[in-house]
Amino acid sequence: MNIATRVAVPDGGGMAVRGNVREDLARHLAAGGDSALHHSPEAVLTAIRAAGLRGRGGAGFPVAAKIEAVRAASGPRVLVANGEEGEPASVKDRYLMRTRPHLVIEGMLLARRLVGADRAILYVSDAPSARSVRQALNERGSPCAEVFDAEPGFVSGEETALVRAIDGGPAKPTAKPPRPFEQGVAGRPTLVLNVESLARMALLTRFRRGGLLVTLSGSGRAPVLTEIRHGVRPADLAARHGFDAGRGFLAGGFSGGLLPPSAGDTPLTHEAMRAIGSTLGCGALVAIGRDDCPVAAAADVLAFFDRANAGQCGSCFRGTGAMAGAVEALRAGTAVAEQVDRLAQWARQLRGRGACGTLDAACLTADSLLLHFPDEIRNHLAEPCARCARLPVGADTRFRVHPIEPEEG
Ligand code: SF4
Repeated sequence: MNIATRVAVPDGGGMAVRGNVREDLARHLAAGGDSALHHSPEAVLTAIRAAGLRGRGGAGFPVAAKIEAVRAASGPRVLVANGEEGEPASVKDRYLMRTRPHLVIEGMLLARRLVGADRAILYVSDAPSARSVRQALNERGSPCAEVFDAEPGFVSGEETALVRAIDGGPAKPTAKPPRPFEQGVAGRPTLVLNVESLARMALLTRFRRGGLLVTLSGSGRAPVLTEIRHGVRPADLAARHGFDAGRGFLAGGFSGGLLPPSAGDTPLTHEAMRAIGSTLGCGALVAIGRDDCPVAAAADVLAFFDRANAGQCGSCFRGTGAMAGAVEALRAGTAVAEQVDRLAQWARQLRGRGACGTLDAACLTADSLLLHFPDEIRNHLAEPCARCARLPVGADTRFRVHPIEPEEG
């Protein structure tokens, strides 16, 4: 979607979202920035545990457990701030790096102390984000972190792909174990945390509460980046910002499958989203409006996965291609019932067979379409869909959200 993204500061002011003026070091410090660095590592870890902070990159792994695993490992350690936002429907990480680079650096300094890392690296492909963080490091006058210019790509930010890239290889996932906390950059125990997770760690010490950044898009509206408390309902969020979710949502960006309109009542928490078979993921929600079609949305997302997968696991590149082909045939009105049966089989059988989560996300897209939209499937088998015929084709055209261009203060 080629419409500029809007920043919506929550009522009463946001913790991470403060508008779209880039925050320099003076502003950061004046607003209480870097105060997290005055707390002892133990106090910070206790606060992270108590808040139940989970990673904001997509997988939602408990942050305290990651930190403890790296602390328990022996030898020199590395911190990697993951700023590689390969998810097309999300802009929150680039917002933080472009607009609040010192908050990200504060989180990096905090995490570095927590695990005793002697090397801290920001991994990012977005050039304006890299520039903003480099400028922020210069403002601080100390080389406390490196910026690694990553290759852009959906799988480039997967944590084993990131380690491989920093070590000089291709940005493609590797088999696990070992995981980066065991053997990461240069073979050292490595803590990989998403840039919002790092910012949240710093903010927790000031606000004593959590929150999450949400990118809301779809239904022909200008996308919105905002900040919410956990537990807000997608339907309320969509209504508040004028989005039509009359035919459901894509949840967790492209990673949480399709949800029916009734899922709009599900609180946005990790637990509640998991309970309905989806994921909170990176907090990106795409509203599927009444003029849209869930079959077309699934076809576009699966075609994206077919292009974006790393092409190294046979089950993934053949499986996503086959599933994309079947759903594309549904969209075109040329599918037959046997193709839908095969789609259901693939969606079940291929799960867990890739080296990273991309294949699972593709399976979930197909599975959730079949589960939540049986009437639409039947209709598409019976006759071509008029809505599909009117819609533009391609996830990049329809669902890619453009990052926010910050103003200089
Ligand atoms: S599962 Fe797919 S995207 Fe992931 S490593 Fe294998 S081929 Fe690449």
